[in-house]
Amino acid sequence: MDIVLTGTGSPLPDANRAGPSTLVKAGDTHILVDAGRGVVMRMTGGGSLPAFLGAVLVTHLHSDHVCALNDVITTHWVMTQGNLPLKIYGPVGIAQFVERQMAALEPDIGYRIEHHDALTQGPQLEVTELEPGDSFTVNDVSITTAATEHSPVKPTIGFRLEHDGATAALVGDTIACDGVDTLAAGADVYVQTVIRRDLVEATPNEMFQDILDYHSGVIDAAQTAARVGSKRLALTHMVPAPTPEQYPEWIARAAEHFAGEIIIGDDLTTITV
Ligand SMILES: [Zn+2]
Ligand SMILES: [Zn+2]
Repeated sequence: MDIVLTGTGSPLPDANRAGPSTLVKAGDTHILVDAGRGVVMRMTGGGSLPAFLGAVLVTHLHSDHVCALNDVITTHWVMTQGNLPLKIYGPVGIAQFVERQMAALEPDIGYRIEHHDALTQGPQLEVTELEPGDSFTVNDVSITTAATEHSPVKPTIGFRLEHDGATAALVGDTIACDGVDTLAAGADVYVQTVIRRDLVEATPNEMFQDILDYHSGVIDAAQTAARVGSKRLALTHMVPAPTPEQYPEWIARAAEHFAGEIIIGDDLTTITV
């Protein structure tokens, strides 16, 4: 299984980091988790395309995680000529979100159907709302879900993907909680969106400091990984975004609490498990 960090950015615009998203390639099945800014460009860089997707999984409806879902939908639709359904899974609320995206896309859908004889219908979407604890399969990938804690953002869910003996936990934005423990337990890789608490606390901006109460710090993530026996910890959605020269410092902080492999990097960093 390859886990491609297609977007390691956050809501803060960054020329070199796309918004939050992770691509999992499990054999021939490609699964996208979240769809932040620039995701389709980065998927291309990671050797995929929306048309290849077995499913899109959404952790929550914060804009940074879903703002490019419309691009995934439209590109999938046009490149499959409307003949293949796109499966989208997410927490309760995802169906209405997608419905409203479709309403916004209505003019474009109309133009393209009018212009192309081959295109006779709009995007075919299969949207499934999940409750924490639900499990399902996408081709031969088994997926389980659990509730995460990102209050006041509700509901939020994380995912555990299993394929051919390999396991990846992709939990989205959350503080350490039971749900994350369940998903990351013994996982070959646990991917966590993180902030640096020390650096955020040192920034004199009240709105910026608000993020402290609903995100995992680097140390929180490392402690979770150690507690539940994850084999590798991958950091993503880093706030504030480090320069490559700062990666060793981030890793060192996590390594004080977790003895396994710690991965941090640029967009398209790929973890093979
Ligand atoms: Zn969020
Ligand atoms: Zn986020």
